[in-house]
Amino acid sequence: MSRIHTLSPRLANQIAAGEVVERPASVVKELLENALDAGARKVDIDVESGGVKLIRIRDDGEGIHCDDLPLALSRHATSKIEELEDLEAVASLGFRGEALASISSVSRLTLASKQRSSEQGWSVYAEGRDMATQVSPAAHPQGTTVEMRDLFFNTPARRKFLKTEKTEFGHLEEVVKRQALSRFETAFTLRHNQKVVLGLRPAVSVRDKEMRVASVCGKAFMENTTPIQIQASGMHLYGWVALPTFSRSQADLQYFFVNGRVIRDKLVTHAIRQAYQDVLYHGRHPAYVLYLDLDPASVDVNVHPTKHEVRFRDGRMVHDFIFRSLHKALADVRPEAASEGSL
Ligand code: ADP
Ligand code: MG
Repeated sequence: MSRIHTLSPRLANQIAAGEVVERPASVVKELLENALDAGARKVDIDVESGGVKLIRIRDDGEGIHCDDLPLALSRHATSKIEELEDLEAVASLGFRGEALASISSVSRLTLASKQRSSEQGWSVYAEGRDMATQVSPAAHPQGTTVEMRDLFFNTPARRKFLKTEKTEFGHLEEVVKRQALSRFETAFTLRHNQKVVLGLRPAVSVRDKEMRVASVCGKAFMENTTPIQIQASGMHLYGWVALPTFSRSQADLQYFFVNGRVIRDKLVTHAIRQAYQDVLYHGRHPAYVLYLDLDPASVDVNVHPTKHEVRFRDGRMVHDFIFRSLHKALADVRPEAASEGSL
């Protein structure tokens, strides 16, 4: 063994990238979160070859100051939190300052941006380097474009784990759908190899929102759901739950958002399963698009780098609230079930 030395920032980023950037879909997740954190109302996503060759995401958000562009690509650099207290009730989707550093360490990345107050746009380019320092003028409307090419070009071992173009695109499209369900007021366009795959206008009215859910989850889902909207103990649960008759053989239509962030959580899944227990055949899966809003201080999102997991301060209370709300909603559509329930 040789003596101890500090890893170069590039290698440190590449190692960190292992946690954040697994495949093209993870790149899209991070870039979309950044666009939404910047207040984007319109997001255009262009993808080639399942995202391995190209992912280009343009938003009309607040943009990045030209002096900050190189910093945006360096690790632990963020505009979203300043001190530990901020982490206690973080409202943005991102806060770790790791995504752009990780992605740019395993791809060829151009970041172009213009803020409203700036007269012109600027861009930086990084190619698996430590940090891009050369800022050049660029024609760009207000907002930000991130263009990522050749994912894992310098980490062939990672590249080998990628699946077919179709499979990778499938994962990527799923990520876009999830984000589209989390921000109805934002327009999304997804193109794959120049073909429009998903075109979603801003949805404000209930009808528009239902149409978006139908575009994402299918018309059959929307036609077989009951809306739900329940408030109690500082929590608000709303969305759409499928009738038991519309059960699935796979757990593929299950969307749960906590304060606008898509999550997968055992406690939540368990509460929902339990609410469906009496009305669903064994081996079938419920379908739902549900939103839970609660005090940000009562949920910890800093559990894992991808932030798919959360930890509730009072898990028992959240579990009971979800279970009771759904149980009641399902009983209401099936009056005969009401008396069987233990609410
Ligand atoms: P994080 O999102 O955790 O802060 P990122 O590496 O994803 O870290 O991004 C670093 C910083 O770059 C962000 O904090 C933000 O200031 C800026 N940024 C990235 N993408 C955008 C975007 N689309 N619009 C505006 N600012 C952005
Ligand atoms: Mg981010």
